[in-house]
Amino acid sequence: MSTIYDIDKMETLRRQAAVQPHGMKRFRNALFKNGQSWDAALEVLPEEGRALFSEQIVPECLELRERHDSAVDGASKLIFQTKDGHLIESVVLRPRTGRTSICISSQVGCACYCSFCATGKMGFTRNLASAEILDQVTQANRLLKSEGRVIRNVVFMGMGEPLLNLNEVFASVDFLTAVPFFNLSGARVTVSTVGIPDAMACFTGRFPSVRLALSLHSARQEVRERLMPQARRFPLDMLRGALVNAAGNGTVMIEYLMLLGVNDGPEDLAALVEYLGDIPVHINIIPFNEYAGCSLQGTPQSGREHFANELKAAGFDTTLRYSLGSDIAAACGQLVKHKKEQMHGTG
Ligand code: SAH
Repeated sequence: MSTIYDIDKMETLRRQAAVQPHGMKRFRNALFKNGQSWDAALEVLPEEGRALFSEQIVPECLELRERHDSAVDGASKLIFQTKDGHLIESVVLRPRTGRTSICISSQVGCACYCSFCATGKMGFTRNLASAEILDQVTQANRLLKSEGRVIRNVVFMGMGEPLLNLNEVFASVDFLTAVPFFNLSGARVTVSTVGIPDAMACFTGRFPSVRLALSLHSARQEVRERLMPQARRFPLDMLRGALVNAAGNGTVMIEYLMLLGVNDGPEDLAALVEYLGDIPVHINIIPFNEYAGCSLQGTPQSGREHFANELKAAGFDTTLRYSLGSDIAAACGQLVKHKKEQMHGTG
């Protein structure tokens, strides 16, 4: 069976069922732009096409297992199950002043083992296929339809390291940005990485207008190594060249998670200012979402504000991100981690 993301198969079926190109366009719009259910999308096809498509296409590759809506802000966490029984998560964000966004997963678990990250505590199981990556967006659009919303922004900041699943992530980005499919501009898609120089160069070459977020978290090599084991393989000096190259397109965001007593002191600030120098990046200061089983603590808001103000004073375009969905464990991997612990009686 093929999926709705299998372009060649969909085209073959279109020809077999003699659906006109404009009829196919309406079908695709129903599926990818208007959040219609599979049955409603089939309705737009001529009668003879419906049977063929419903026999040969699997409408969904993930099953929605749970939905948790935040009581304090507009976040909804979705837990999906893959056909082979693994759990992954996505978070829908409805910022009051911004576009409806989704944070999606690119892998089951993660092999990077960052010390602050709940997904890292689970280990790595497998890469997601592009259809599984894209289905998170399609299904979220179906859920949001009743609210009159549609996903306008996609960030690869859920479970996994997208640049360690290059083929499937690249295929997904192609699909998300293609006019006949999701039709999101490059500025509305962000791929976030721990910092893998070769893969960053590939990404920038292939998608010059798609946004890249680099999870830097420290510009001091020894501190970064403690937080992110991958920093040993890809040290800061090696990363800088890839960063300069990517930032030339004006599409790079630096993510800086603020951890109390770890990366929030004056020496950390000085190192960051020096490291970034005059690279044209946007800096995002992120609050830490604490969770059971991790002893790190976040820097209080006053400390984060001070850090951000100093960066602004040094000439950097800087924003302070406020935590969304903290009451529903919305940070990367937290809900699946919690659920696994419940299932195995270790929570
Ligand atoms: N592997 C990629 C994408 C997944 S993590 C990357 O590292 O960028 C997406 C972002 O969530 C990263 O910036 C990561 O540092 C951040 N993150 C992970 N755990 C967090 C936590 N407990 N609180 C706040 N942010 C967290």
